[in-house]
Amino acid sequence: MSGFSTPAILLRRIDYGDYDLIVTFLSLAKGKISALAKNAKKSRKRFSGLLEPFTALELVCRSGRAGGMPILQEASMHSPFAGIREDVFKTLYAAYWAELINGWMEEWKSQPRVYRLLYDALNALDLDLAGPEEISIIFQMRFLSLAGYTPKLDLCGACGTALDLMAAGTVIFDLEKGGIVCNGCAAGESRTRLRISKGAVKQLCWIRENDFKTLQRLRFTPTALREALSAMEAFVPYHLGRMPRSLRVLGQMRRR
Ligand SMILES: [Zn+2]
Repeated sequence: MSGFSTPAILLRRIDYGDYDLIVTFLSLAKGKISALAKNAKKSRKRFSGLLEPFTALELVCRSGRAGGMPILQEASMHSPFAGIREDVFKTLYAAYWAELINGWMEEWKSQPRVYRLLYDALNALDLDLAGPEEISIIFQMRFLSLAGYTPKLDLCGACGTALDLMAAGTVIFDLEKGGIVCNGCAAGESRTRLRISKGAVKQLCWIRENDFKTLQRLRFTPTALREALSAMEAFVPYHLGRMPRSLRVLGQMRRR
């Protein structure tokens, strides 16, 4: 019987009957995949408690019958990222990223750069290499860019004036236009517009062009951090067409 092995990160798991789980992974070799983990619920020993959210594993799967869902044969630990599950905010950020990947990516289409991005973001979150908000800004901006939804940040989306030539210290982040517009072009208030400083826009531009290792050295001022996070967390659901559940919960938790 044919099968495959691959590094993979667990995105979510759901009960399947009394004994089994359906586990969805972002795998390096096959992209997003779901597999049936037989007896994983009945016996924790079956997969030694490895099937926890956000763990990075090595999987061995065999093909399911008649083109059905693959069967998870073996799993071994690569990185547990246990520090994430001990912290409610870290868990929510990781759940949000997993939800974006689960909702936006096609199955069976390998995207090694997205895999690397998720792995690096989880690793940074686990080890406190930067604050969760900073890591989430980086994750969202890089993910948008890899998914082909990069916000337009270099020019006004209406008149084409370059960001550097705009005199004011702030510009408008316009969700409908998919990027920034200058103050002259953004007459009137709108629910789909946020004000953002040019400094925060420049940091988002820089994130777009750089890899995760470089980005860990990025430091936001408190204002730029708040603006960039709000812009990303408004832009992503607007273009996704729905509000990710974990992002809504994250918002509620922050207000407590
Ligand atoms: Zn303009």
